[in-house]
Amino acid sequence: MATVGSVTRQIAALELSNKKPGITTNNSTARPPLHSKHSSQTNVAKLLTKYAAPNPHLPGSSTKSTKPVAGTAIPKTKPPHTGNTPVPEATQPFDIGNYDGGLELENEKRGEKIFGEAAKELALDSSSAQKWPTREWSLHDFDMGRPLGKGKFGRVYMVRTKAEPKYIVALKTLYKSEIVKGKVEKQVRREIEIQQNLRHPNVLRLYGYFHDETRIFLMLEFAGKGELYKQLSKFGCFSEKRSSRYIDQMADALSYLHAKHVIHRDIKPENLLLGLNGELKIADFGWSVHAPGNRRRTMCGTLDYLPPEMVEGKEHTEKVDYWALGVLTYEFLIGNPPFEDRKSVDNTYRRIMRVDLRFPPGMSAEVKDLIARLLQHEPQDRIPLVDVLRHPWIVKYRPKDCNRGSEVY
Ligand code: ATP
Ligand code: MG
Repeated sequence: MATVGSVTRQIAALELSNKKPGITTNNSTARPPLHSKHSSQTNVAKLLTKYAAPNPHLPGSSTKSTKPVAGTAIPKTKPPHTGNTPVPEATQPFDIGNYDGGLELENEKRGEKIFGEAAKELALDSSSAQKWPTREWSLHDFDMGRPLGKGKFGRVYMVRTKAEPKYIVALKTLYKSEIVKGKVEKQVRREIEIQQNLRHPNVLRLYGYFHDETRIFLMLEFAGKGELYKQLSKFGCFSEKRSSRYIDQMADALSYLHAKHVIHRDIKPENLLLGLNGELKIADFGWSVHAPGNRRRTMCGTLDYLPPEMVEGKEHTEKVDYWALGVLTYEFLIGNPPFEDRKSVDNTYRRIMRVDLRFPPGMSAEVKDLIARLLQHEPQDRIPLVDVLRHPWIVKYRPKDCNRGSEVY
């Protein structure tokens, strides 16, 4: 079986463009021969059908023939109906919304060229050729849709591949000059390298990436229901059932990440997105670290989610994510993280160090038990993820048809 890395590279290297084969002037390397296109396109169809939102017009792209993986559902927005005969729901094309021209406008303001070592460092390209500029992917390969959000380094757009089969992805822009100014070249590279090797239904997928003179573009799985943080702000807090289902997905995704020696280190509602079916997607790998057998000492992450060992600047392991899972469970149910002190950062630190955990009335005994087991001062005392997946509060709310907890990574 192909490895995750090779599969990702396959997707990224695939020729989806309508462009005629030819020679590019910049690096004068010929395109691969036409006959190699067929196998590539078969591969992209297979891979993206599984992991990206397919065009419901295409045979075999209905939810029946596709694994119910995030991003495969049909969006609710209907396109304008022009015919007399009603078009069945399943054959509605995706509506990617209206493009606001933001990328071009923004590029005029923010798109400074970079040179020298930094330019080499940020010539990030998932294509097999690894030439600059990429010939496998460019902005011309996409129909631009609505803006999805603004990140630190640029905008994110909903886009669709122009070539058949048409797939929806979220295209995230990163301005190279701003990455260089922020001195985060390594962090960005790391985020990209880590994410491109991951494949789990609750981890946001990175299909591929390419760049031009001023920007890096990430082709990300489209998270149709947006930010979980917005939902939490809207409702204030979540029910035990909803929280339990999110924590179930989180525990499963984290145990997958840890088995691959990836510690996330920045688990918080702002870094979680929701797929079209409302399933949770861990995103933002900016602080994660690939640490096989490694204990890390770098201080990072958001204060409220920091475990005692990180507050103290001690070495830490993947068990920092267990702690964050406890904080997240609490915040989902109560609306605030457990050790928050809005007036004093020092006090938050003190409360974390003392594990000053207070449960407001109304929480079930089961969830209090789980939170208390995750929020243990000593990392080795925290409940392992495999036991989180078996915990009564998780099992109680897990949908009957879900066999989670049985996977071994
Ligand atoms: P920030 O500091 O604001 O989190 P960032 O650089 O991490 O910046 P993102 O969080 O990745 O940027 O993107 C900004 C916004 O775009 C998100 O908050 C979200 O609303 C939207 N967005 C990003 N990625 C996706 C996606 N894959 N699917 C849907 N929406 C997305
Ligand atoms: Mg973000």
